[in-house]
Amino acid sequence: MRPTITFHGAAGMVTGSKHLLELPRANGHTLRILLDCGMFQGEGPTSDEKNRHFGFDPRSIDVVVLSHAHIDHSGLLPRLVKEGFKGPIISTPATRDLCAIMLEDSARIQEYDYAFDVKRARKRGREPHEHAPLYTVADVAPCLERFQGVAYNEHYPLAEGVTLTYTDAGHILGSACVHLDIEGADGTTRLTFSGDVGRYVDRLLPDPARFRQADVLICESTYGDRDHPPVEEVRDELLAHVHDVCVVNKGKLIIPAFSIGKTQELLHTLNKLYNEGRLPRVPVYVDSPLSVNATGIYRQHSRLLQDDVRAELEHDPDLFGFRGVEFVREADRSKQLNERQEPAIIIAASGMMEAGRIRHHLKHGLPYERNAVLVVGFCAPGTLGDDLLKGYDFVEIFGERVPVRARVLRMESYSAHGDRAELARWLACQDPAQVKRTFLVHGIEKALLGMRELLAAKGFAEIAVPRQGQRFEL
Ligand SMILES: [Zn+2]
Repeated sequence: MRPTITFHGAAGMVTGSKHLLELPRANGHTLRILLDCGMFQGEGPTSDEKNRHFGFDPRSIDVVVLSHAHIDHSGLLPRLVKEGFKGPIISTPATRDLCAIMLEDSARIQEYDYAFDVKRARKRGREPHEHAPLYTVADVAPCLERFQGVAYNEHYPLAEGVTLTYTDAGHILGSACVHLDIEGADGTTRLTFSGDVGRYVDRLLPDPARFRQADVLICESTYGDRDHPPVEEVRDELLAHVHDVCVVNKGKLIIPAFSIGKTQELLHTLNKLYNEGRLPRVPVYVDSPLSVNATGIYRQHSRLLQDDVRAELEHDPDLFGFRGVEFVREADRSKQLNERQEPAIIIAASGMMEAGRIRHHLKHGLPYERNAVLVVGFCAPGTLGDDLLKGYDFVEIFGERVPVRARVLRMESYSAHGDRAELARWLACQDPAQVKRTFLVHGIEKALLGMRELLAAKGFAEIAVPRQGQRFEL
């Protein structure tokens, strides 16, 4: 048997990242390494169905290697453990810390949304819209016990004949590109999995790091077909939106954001504007218990931030907090904010608006012209965020038709994903002639095809765009 790789998620789409390596070993055992264990999001019942059936037996997996903490890469780990996975889950220490809060949050949201929906359904005499949780808070602790931290650039013996090295992906705190050196009958195969590649811009995190030559490459393609607008003016752009919505129109600026990464980037910008004396006096609410905890973890791991950001710490010990910011933990306080009509900036999760408190803010905020929703991240097709970007007059939230009279604004400069040019820059350390196979994942079709075109032009050969469940010999 030859080594194989099977793509069980993020194949022809963005979410559900899950790639299974099966490596025959000299002792007759087949070593099964799962790269990421992400949740599918945004396709309603289809996602739910895929989240409930892995396509492989969790008990057969020897080890999970995690690229970063985002839920579309880590979100099914508690379910994997619940279904019998008994091996270690390898990640960077910061990813482990972020997963500890974010998996519990994911479980809590699933339980809450389900209970909320069941209650409403009962009241109205209909069937619940939501499905039972994929896992509960009680399933999270047994999963966290399996985590083992591996630092960037450490050569870690993952299994007999397999060495793991993480390099900094510059995407969110702790995010890593995964490099496996796999000894086999025909010598060593050097496999690289990009995880999600960050940006070469002056923000919180360092640039994505260079890495050793690969023979096999699994590369994300989220923005494989386009470039982001320049980011020099990012602070001014955000300030202009705040001024326009909160000061001129006296409305609420509702910013859906991933609790991890995006929220800290936004807070860092607002903090800078505040320090410069340019931020209007509007209350800022960070309405997500997860964001509160995640921001704490960013503070704890501040040595992983860019040099100039670390230098800022000498003048301002809190990069994410300033007068006027309120971090909201309690659900009752969150409900008060829903009712509130005064100008405010509200940052809440989730970024694609599929879950979490943001949906309550949108339900209450969208019907009013004075308000605006500022979309700062990627929204997968089928998500509420995608519906808003498409300009629908009505959207469905909690089974109700909600009119969209608020403006929908967009800022792409906050993207945590490298664009086409940045992905090319990340790959510039590679000699394309030595890369024998390339697999493109984590993109919608247009992006995947754009990425294939880009790589083909650079001289990469044997580029495949796997379909869900497709297996390849290496
Ligand atoms: Zn990510």
